[in-house]
Amino acid sequence: ESGSAVGELTVRREQGPTLLARARRTASRDAWLVLEDVSELRRLQRIRTEFIDNLSHELRTPLTTVSLLAETLAADADSLPPKAAERVAKIEVETGHLVQMVNELLDLSRIESGIAMVALDDIDLGRLATSTVERVRLFAERQGVGLEVHAPPEVPAVRGDRERVGQALLNLVHNAVKFSPPGAAVVVRVMPAETEVVVAVEDHGPGIPRAALPRIFERFYKVDRARTRIAGGTGLGLSIARHIVEAHGGRIWAESEEGAGSTFSFAIPITGPDLAATPGA
Ligand code: ADP
Repeated sequence: ESGSAVGELTVRREQGPTLLARARRTASRDAWLVLEDVSELRRLQRIRTEFIDNLSHELRTPLTTVSLLAETLAADADSLPPKAAERVAKIEVETGHLVQMVNELLDLSRIESGIAMVALDDIDLGRLATSTVERVRLFAERQGVGLEVHAPPEVPAVRGDRERVGQALLNLVHNAVKFSPPGAAVVVRVMPAETEVVVAVEDHGPGIPRAALPRIFERFYKVDRARTRIAGGTGLGLSIARHIVEAHGGRIWAESEEGAGSTFSFAIPITGPDLAATPGA
């Protein structure tokens, strides 16, 4: 029997080290055990998360004020000279991007530190897909992009935090619309399988180069900085989605052909009567 296992443990002493243990047994019956002291790495990760959390909190308050002021100004653009009205409109759009970036930073640090996943609901992914698509409807209409949901009438429930899973899906649909050319459609498919429910978001945008595919779920990663500068975005949406899906015991992946479009999918395990009873399932 060959196989491998990974585990992490913290030695219970004051300031005890955190150890990462990797075990592997090869087909030729050799066994390997590797212990690595990851205390310093974990400490730095904690500091980074806290730093981002504090920073985004500090940024949020003044930004919200600026954003509200820009909105108010834009609302009576009629009373402004045309040049000024144009600039106000730009300020409004850019502050909107800033607010979104700061919110995503906050979300990511919360999700990373694991305090966000509390609520446990029975989620109907078909209904969730429909309501999520409604949240992007206006944005899609402005972009001239069509939105469709294909889901069977009965979808087995998955267990999790409905708001968070909705956010993961929203990020995927939002990207699909953002990168779609006018006139194209974005299709969300909900597909129950034996042990899980798969949700796929398909677009006919520019696609993702093969070399970039393995990296797009990383924090801050953007394929084409020039393109996303115009469209707006932090490079955090997909890493937030990945964190959420994985915290639900699921997986997330992307398929894409350059020039033809992309399909982003995730799968979350179905809550069977026995599955629900298993701790950690
Ligand atoms: P962003 O805020 O930049 O959209 P994401 O983490 O959501 O950040 O996405 C990371 C990068 O992956 C994007 O900048 C873009 O280059 C690429 N990407 C994501 N979704 C799509 C898509 N549907 N079509 C083409 N490229 C995409």
